[in-house]
Amino acid sequence: MSDSSRQAAESAADRSWRMLIGGELVAARHGSTTETINPATGRSFARYPQGAEADVDDAVSAATAAAPVWADTPIRKRAAAVSALADAIEAAGEEISLLDTVDNGSPIAVMRNDYLLAVEHLRYFAGLALQLKGESIPVDDHDALDFTLRAPFGVVGRIVPFNHPFMFAASRIAAPLVAGNTVVLKPAEVTSLSALRLGELARDLLPPGVLNIVTGPGGTVGDRIVAHPDVPRIAFTGSEAVGRGIQRRAADGGVKVVTLELGGKNPIIVFDDADLDAAVEGALRGMNFTWQGQSCGSTSRLYVQETVYAEFIERLSARMASMRLGEPTDPATEIGPVVSRAQFDKVSGFIDEGRSTPGLELVTGGVAPECGDGYFIRPTLFSGRDEEPGRLYTEEIFGPVLVASSFADYDDVVARANRLPLGLTASVWTRSLRTAMSAARDIEAGYLWINWSSGHIPGAPFGGVKNSGVGREEGLGELESFTQPKNVYVRF
Ligand code: NAD
Repeated sequence: MSDSSRQAAESAADRSWRMLIGGELVAARHGSTTETINPATGRSFARYPQGAEADVDDAVSAATAAAPVWADTPIRKRAAAVSALADAIEAAGEEISLLDTVDNGSPIAVMRNDYLLAVEHLRYFAGLALQLKGESIPVDDHDALDFTLRAPFGVVGRIVPFNHPFMFAASRIAAPLVAGNTVVLKPAEVTSLSALRLGELARDLLPPGVLNIVTGPGGTVGDRIVAHPDVPRIAFTGSEAVGRGIQRRAADGGVKVVTLELGGKNPIIVFDDADLDAAVEGALRGMNFTWQGQSCGSTSRLYVQETVYAEFIERLSARMASMRLGEPTDPATEIGPVVSRAQFDKVSGFIDEGRSTPGLELVTGGVAPECGDGYFIRPTLFSGRDEEPGRLYTEEIFGPVLVASSFADYDDVVARANRLPLGLTASVWTRSLRTAMSAARDIEAGYLWINWSSGHIPGAPFGGVKNSGVGREEGLGELESFTQPKNVYVRF
């Protein structure tokens, strides 16, 4: 373990981590705590509160009590509070990055970017505040007017995944808060510490009850948030399986608005007229190996036109093999460990399955046994040539595993890209405007890159079609989605 890793682990272990409920930093009601593991070592390094249903009930009560006052607070004041939180996060950025690196395993170089993204999102939504407008509707009568107001829901339940712990926790509270809702936030069990740090920063900047953070298992804490009758709006980021369950379960608590940002098995398509140098880098970047492939938007199904397939696979595999795997707190590290033992077992299970699948060749990668007890897996590439054999081509692996196959022509590859019931992102590489624009129309995905991959464009709506989700985030639509239009007809 490097010095900075040891330092971060020691200071996290020395602290007493607390949830934020009703403006107070509190332990779980029943006093339970749970350990969190450093995935680079496989060892526990801190304990944090293991909340339960009663803690969610406290949080929802506090959020419900705070909601009318927060909704009545002038929107520019709400935006100013959100901006102040961005400033506080910026000042604590290095500490937060280190905490996430030790808790989650992604390299410090990218975790530094994560807190900056959170700051950017908070400032973006604060800046959009005055765009939260209603509309006026033409009416027949001269002595009447029809217009809409935007009303907040009240309490919003926000449940976020492990792959960008702080970035999701902090940035996904911005839109609901600016729109005038109060929030109950739940981070993932395996990466809860940085959300608790967010609670410490927010306590001094937001009125009590406006933001509440409860840690604990998804099946109890998450489930209670989803089914609670006083939480009318749920926004979930996570896996498809849990998302489906949430859509069902939410109905037990009332008729709710549920938005879901779920997984993908996203195609990246390289036509033979593409700039192959750029496409090789695009395939590498698209896999988000710097987060160990743990990204919903990772382009993890590679289709290369058969005329350039062999050359492309050779060049890409050489680039993948050259990535520097190592201790995530080392600034030179490009790929760290996956987040947990469970994730390691899942991903290495897929790799074992790939090795024994007829027609599938392991081109590069595999687990990294020389890394001791850490959960390290190398950037891994399987080639099925002109076929797509087995589950590796259909399931989201959520690890550093890319599967490739060749295609004959446009119709062949579009049909194959669209064959799965998922549709989050897609990336297309070609010099032909006609091919690019046709693909943009024909490929079933919520977010498409042409001659690019991985990046989220600030302000552009992100989200999936088919089983990859409902709703769009990161643009003005996200802010509006945390309000309900109220129509007013006035007769003078
Ligand atoms: P997950 O679905 O296992 O967990 C996500 C969150 O849901 C966690 O906080 C978890 O505690 C909670 N949860 C679990 N069971 C629950 C239940 N029954 N009720 C309520 N909450 C529950 O996902 P994960 O493993 O943390 O993250 C990986 C998944 O997230 C991948 O599928 C990935 O594609 C997806 N993801 C999607 C996006 C997107 O924007 N579309 C972004 C990041 C990750």
